[in-house]
Amino acid sequence: MRKTPAPTDDLKVQLTAFLRKNYPEICRHWFDEIEPVDVDGGVLTLLVGEPVRRNYLQRTCLAPFTEAAQAITGRLLAVRFVGEECESGDAPPMTLVGGLAPSELDEQLLLSPDYIFDTFVVGPGNRLAHAAAIAVSANLGGAYNPLFIHGGVGLGKTHLLQAICQTVLRQRPSARIGYLSCQTFSELFLGCVKSGRMQDFRHRFRNLDMLVIDDIHFLSKRDQTQEEFFHTFNSLYQAGKQLVLSSDASPNEIPDLEARLVSRFNCGLVARVDKPCYETRVAILKAKSAMLGLDIADDIPAFIASRIDTNIRELEGSLTKVRGFAMANGLTMTLDVAKRALADDRPPSSVSTKPTIQMIIDAVTLYYDIKLSDLMSKRRHKSIALPRQICMWLARKHTRYSLEEIGGYFGGRDHTTVLHAEKKVERTRNTDLELAQAIDRIEGTIQRHAPVG
Ligand code: ADP
Ligand code: MG
Repeated sequence: MRKTPAPTDDLKVQLTAFLRKNYPEICRHWFDEIEPVDVDGGVLTLLVGEPVRRNYLQRTCLAPFTEAAQAITGRLLAVRFVGEECESGDAPPMTLVGGLAPSELDEQLLLSPDYIFDTFVVGPGNRLAHAAAIAVSANLGGAYNPLFIHGGVGLGKTHLLQAICQTVLRQRPSARIGYLSCQTFSELFLGCVKSGRMQDFRHRFRNLDMLVIDDIHFLSKRDQTQEEFFHTFNSLYQAGKQLVLSSDASPNEIPDLEARLVSRFNCGLVARVDKPCYETRVAILKAKSAMLGLDIADDIPAFIASRIDTNIRELEGSLTKVRGFAMANGLTMTLDVAKRALADDRPPSSVSTKPTIQMIIDAVTLYYDIKLSDLMSKRRHKSIALPRQICMWLARKHTRYSLEEIGGYFGGRDHTTVLHAEKKVERTRNTDLELAQAIDRIEGTIQRHAPVG
């Protein structure tokens, strides 16, 4: 790689300063370790040693970095992230599942550099799951197999799964790891069935060193996928390869999971993650603010932790809110500012409450771990269509908007679509326990956030 002309340290300082000012939400303390190495042919080359970080930057932060580079230099620069090992300067895509076509690589869940063991705070609620995750990453296939982690939304399951993947990749960069959501596994499978590429599919999944599937509870009801997953599981298990699964319920509680899979899941270690206690919540908030490079008053974590005891994603949400409020008003993050920032979301009392459409969407996207843009999109895949229909049903139940208004809101759909969604959810929830439970939990979240009306 050409090393001249070396950009000045100034560029590095200005780059991070620009990002911290304009895109604080993407900034991490390790951004200081990103080294500008070269400006050549209209391209600013940035060195990022860690493959997971590099891949993450490339896939999610390219636009802000490009904007920053252009704003600082006044030139129309492109930005490229490279690693030390690649002379050519091209960041190799991280192939987690061997032999996947580039388009299929997108199906892989992206590993977040935030989700490593170093940033995971251990407390009574997650001690077992954490210890098991560490043991598994140190001894693939030899410690606990399968490792099955279950628990409520936002309690760190995905974080632990990704920490396992990243630890293994760091020790053995050539390890063949498949890390997917259950929906993606199912989509890939059905896609291969349709196009007659089952050989490919089996080859791909049965040659892994470790298969990690997030939110395996979505497997229920999908018979064909369940069958295939069972065979994938067996073939990996018999070959001594590691399996790691997460779920919102224990194996015995996942509706419609075949008995043979229940018993497979139970034969390794089943570890539950529980809600964090107060001390753990405080420690998590401190760790998160350090990770985000936030300068907050010491008493803010205690204040937030005393108000929010539901899940960790919501704890983080409050921290983000305080930061946003402080930034928008040009204030430092003191306890007083935090109180003002969070004044609106007092816990509800028993007085009547009125959910807004925004709360409905927040609760649904939180539960299904999907993006708002997906809900509003034209995508009709079941993993998006069902949450969208639930949103519509909840909007009909809890708000006074008309069918037309709701349809318009969700990506310009007409009133018959909303009517169809309403009827379908109404009908299905009477027979489908899984759906009924999901709606129950979503409504619980909405109730906890509804303002006192
Ligand atoms: P789940 O998959 O169980 O729904 P996630 O793993 O997505 O939950 O966690 C939600 C958020 O909370 C993530 O940002 C994650 O980093 C954070 N988090 C969860 N548990 C912990 C923990 N013990 N320490 C630090 N952060 C945590
Ligand atoms: Mg998750």
